[in-house]
Amino acid sequence: MTRSSRSYDWGFPRWRGYGSERGATKVRLCDREGCDQPGDRPAPKSPNSPDRWWFCEAHAAEYNRNWNYFEGLSAEEAAKREADERRTASGFASSSHHQWGGPGDGTRTRDELRALEVLGVDSDADFEEIKSAWRRLAKENHPDVRPGDAQAAVRFQSIQAAFEVLRRAEERKPASSRSNR
Ligand SMILES: [Zn+2]
Repeated sequence: MTRSSRSYDWGFPRWRGYGSERGATKVRLCDREGCDQPGDRPAPKSPNSPDRWWFCEAHAAEYNRNWNYFEGLSAEEAAKREADERRTASGFASSSHHQWGGPGDGTRTRDELRALEVLGVDSDADFEEIKSAWRRLAKENHPDVRPGDAQAAVRFQSIQAAFEVLRRAEERKPASSRSNR
């Protein structure tokens, strides 16, 4: 056996000789974890980002299908959530259960609710809880900690985006209603 398979296997971005070993064409591999197909379909890593994943055809389709600003939602979950939100928006079930009243007294926007879910905190979590959840998740999924892990990288982006949404929401609150425990 030769040891030629070592040479192009740098982890991330993933490149590997493809085809015959000697004089093989260097082909970029699909960024999807564990996939050995050539990755020739670009997909933006996050909105407004020039960074791209490179996927094979099948995984590009999967990525596009599941793509969500906050990642992690299957198509069914996304559809169900949309339906739930429409029901709420129709006026009935106006979230009194969660103690979000009308605009101006702490109502969470849809993005904020999604962000809270991404961070895995309760809808009534205060900002300190949000911050510690964010720190924990960001650490777990940080590219320095999980080099070459494409899914962790996507999660990391989502976590950062989610926290940004919640941080801005916190800043918009009147000082009197900010959590300061
Ligand atoms: Zn693939």
